[in-house]
Amino acid sequence: MQKFETGRDTALSLRPDRPVYGFRPDVLATDARAFLDAFRGETAYAVKTNGEPFVLKRLAEAGVSAFDVASPAEFAAAFAAAPAAKQFYMHPVKAQSDIRLALEGFSIRALALDHEDEVAKILRIVRAQDLAPSDVTLFVRIATKGHAAYELSKKFGAAPKHAVELLQRIDRIGFRAGVTFHVGSQVEDLGTYERALASADWVRGRSGVELAALDIGGGFPAQYGHDPKRPGPPTPQVGDLVARIQSEIDAWGLDDLPLIAEPGRVIVARSLSVIVRVLLKKGQRLYINDGIWSSLSDSWTGKMTLPARLIPDPARRRAPKTSAAKLAPFRVMGATCDSVDILSRPFWLPDTVDTGDWIEIGHIGAYSLALRTRFNGFYPDDFVEVATPFDMEEGEEGFASIETMGDAAE
Ligand SMILES: *Cc1c(COP(=O)(O)O)cnc(C)c1O
Repeated sequence: MQKFETGRDTALSLRPDRPVYGFRPDVLATDARAFLDAFRGETAYAVKTNGEPFVLKRLAEAGVSAFDVASPAEFAAAFAAAPAAKQFYMHPVKAQSDIRLALEGFSIRALALDHEDEVAKILRIVRAQDLAPSDVTLFVRIATKGHAAYELSKKFGAAPKHAVELLQRIDRIGFRAGVTFHVGSQVEDLGTYERALASADWVRGRSGVELAALDIGGGFPAQYGHDPKRPGPPTPQVGDLVARIQSEIDAWGLDDLPLIAEPGRVIVARSLSVIVRVLLKKGQRLYINDGIWSSLSDSWTGKMTLPARLIPDPARRRAPKTSAAKLAPFRVMGATCDSVDILSRPFWLPDTVDTGDWIEIGHIGAYSLALRTRFNGFYPDDFVEVATPFDMEEGEEGFASIETMGDAAE
């Protein structure tokens, strides 16, 4: 990767007409370390969040030694980056052939499920392979309720009584039994974790099964931007949130169990930006060369306001008096011809923004590269390395969503 000091340097020297990703390896290492330091259990990075080889490699170098995986491609990606790392196969619904590959090919010994038929599938392979069930931990995924940008219990999770039965069945067969939940993604409220822990405690007590571990899933929120017109409470810092979850674990008497967490978003979000170009300004609309079918689908479905910085094109016009520029909301239209390809939240940018300018959109490391499509023939795939963290860069043009920094400093 070519290296630049800042996003602005990147835009002004490459003058890219296609989106360019700015990878910040040091930010990635810092955010990984922050989680590892805050969490007293085992940290299993959720590979689906961003499974690029250069990301997984950097995480392994930063000390991440376990991965949450869900498919053969993810087993292979995690193995390629960190052959000695432990893998947790936490997809509750699995193909029989994938279970076989996990157990045989990748020596995975921890799997999640929420139904007895999955126990049967796993048992079939364990028997065929002549493995000892006591070497395999089966995590029962319990359903949870709460507030997240994404709710996942609509899809997965056993109701408490069902979870009790599953634990007892797993225990009778001789597997090690664990409990897991995943409360959703971008979960800003501690109460959601509290309710999940209460449920885990109830299931544990009712089952009478000796548990081997408690896996609290992912969902920890990353720092994004704020719409100046819709001020909300600041997003909790990960260290504080993890500390409070751990006190809850203690309060429920679950602290005797080995703990696992599966953070994704909170570790990778800040490590990547994308520099896009304004192809056309039409009134309060900006047509850009990226969109929901490329790097920005997560912000669309999750209705997130991303931090963004204007980089005016000096070749096109005299630099406007920046002090005179006011922040204004712009509706952002994506690159494809699809009429749904319009971002769900406006970008707040200096009102001097114009055709030909660049916008660096920050904190898009999670659920961006993995969700790119080739729809309409657009597929951004150019990367550079940038030294300065997005939220530390001097921006004479200001942030679209300045609050990102203010909150982070509090
Ligand atoms: C997606 C996922 C994660 C990661 O979620 P984040 O919100 O990115 O932290 C963790 N565990 C499971 C089971 C998941 O499906």
